[in-house]
Amino acid sequence: MSVTMVPSVDDRFPVSFYFRIADQLLKQADVYRKEGNLDCLHLTLNRYVRLVSQVIPQHRNYSKHSSKEKLRHTKILQESSKEVEKLKLLATTNINSSGSQLGRRSKNNINNFRSTSQRWTKKILNFSSFKEGKIGHYDSRTCQRGDGNEVHVVKHYFPSSVVSWVEEGGSSGQVSHVIFPGSNDDNSKCISEGSSTSDSTKDMHISVKLTEEFLDLAKENTDRDLETCGILGAFLKNHTFYITTLIIPKQESTSNSCQALNEEEIYAVLDERSLYPAGWIHTHPSQTCFLSSIDLHTQYSYQVMLPEAIAIVLAPTDPTKGCGIFRLTDPGGISVLKECNERDFHPHSTTADGSPIYEICSNIYTNSNLRFEIIDLRISPG
Ligand SMILES: [Zn+2]
Ligand SMILES: [Zn+2]
Repeated sequence: MSVTMVPSVDDRFPVSFYFRIADQLLKQADVYRKEGNLDCLHLTLNRYVRLVSQVIPQHRNYSKHSSKEKLRHTKILQESSKEVEKLKLLATTNINSSGSQLGRRSKNNINNFRSTSQRWTKKILNFSSFKEGKIGHYDSRTCQRGDGNEVHVVKHYFPSSVVSWVEEGGSSGQVSHVIFPGSNDDNSKCISEGSSTSDSTKDMHISVKLTEEFLDLAKENTDRDLETCGILGAFLKNHTFYITTLIIPKQESTSNSCQALNEEEIYAVLDERSLYPAGWIHTHPSQTCFLSSIDLHTQYSYQVMLPEAIAIVLAPTDPTKGCGIFRLTDPGGISVLKECNERDFHPHSTTADGSPIYEICSNIYTNSNLRFEIIDLRISPG
């Protein structure tokens, strides 16, 4: 099990950041509840209960934080704690039950959980964007800019007209590395290999179009030796994250850094679609493919939010490695970043266990049948 199962509080993040993680866990719990995956539901609700009752109150700004949000979570916490108790009881009952009774009892209990929790989950969650009816919808708008170039505001890709937007049977263990097709150029290929991430890390599916489309969107900046960054939005199904949305935020960049602006706009897009912040993608227009010290801090905040979050780096001029998919090692890298208060570019101390600070992810799969959309906020008002 990963040490970030319940993150200890880091006062550098605002309290609202932790309540966002709490809401994310509730979303995750709802998925497991719908799937009838009671083990994972139990685990996730436990994390939620510990986060809200033990971790967040330790934050130095907790007492000053909005009482409205605290009140909301206090109510949910009560219901969640009850549900955890029921799940605990159910687990014990299942162990002691005979086979014929077991099935019926489990089913009844699942239904009970569904009805008792519907009230609050409905408020927080909106899975309507995943309903089948919307899958066939195509929406591509373009916007004319002063220089005459057309910029895509929103692009949707639909691999097929049927609803098979997620490849069936894409379970773990079938593929050990990721290669992005779409180019004969070796530099544009992305290979993920070797990993030491924990067993509990969920697989991540990405669209085969993702890196190609991102490089396309970034081209104008890349030609001017400026970085470009984007945020990856994913949904969770059957213990796997599927990245379906690429958000290009308003941003400020240099040749070796990129800073997303207006975070609230990004969260609004994620919330609207009930997506998890599954990581980020950025270009290194003239540098090689690696995570800089600033990138490590950015990645740290993504992994605190979601332990599975990834960092994709595209380095079109790197002769040996055009693309890398990285994650901080856990606990090694996570601990180093948690202790580091430096800013700008700086060296990092080595990890306590001698592991590298970050590593290449191995549980990433390209999926040619995955819905994928790009939301470019750079030219939206606000
Ligand atoms: Zn970078
Ligand atoms: Zn640092």
